[in-house]
Amino acid sequence: MLYLQAMDISSYKSKLQQEEAQLELELTDMGVLDFNNGVDWTAKGEEYVETADLNILADADEEQEVKKEIVNQLEVRLKNVKEALKRIEDGTYGICVSCNEAIEPARLEANPAAKECIRCS
Ligand SMILES: [Zn+2]
Repeated sequence: MLYLQAMDISSYKSKLQQEEAQLELELTDMGVLDFNNGVDWTAKGEEYVETADLNILADADEEQEVKKEIVNQLEVRLKNVKEALKRIEDGTYGICVSCNEAIEPARLEANPAAKECIRCS
């Protein structure tokens, strides 16, 4: 089995930490963190639209749906990044969670939060 060098791991770690900070920034902008569990985010409510125009109301609904979708995607990504950072702490980073083989370096290069090798994903 091919193990990652400590040097490589620290470079993935800093990439992950950068991405974590970036995602938290974006989520804080668009969403509200659930302080009860500290991991779940919900999209911020739309600003109250005071109008009787149904088209404007429909547009606002649609915008809110799009925002929810983006917040969900950011939240999933943030969880993956945090899990990867935890695997670095645990010393299991770079090992496929499904087959226990080393994850291809090219795959980690493309996605440092990858938890499965190319074959298992
Ligand atoms: Zn695998």
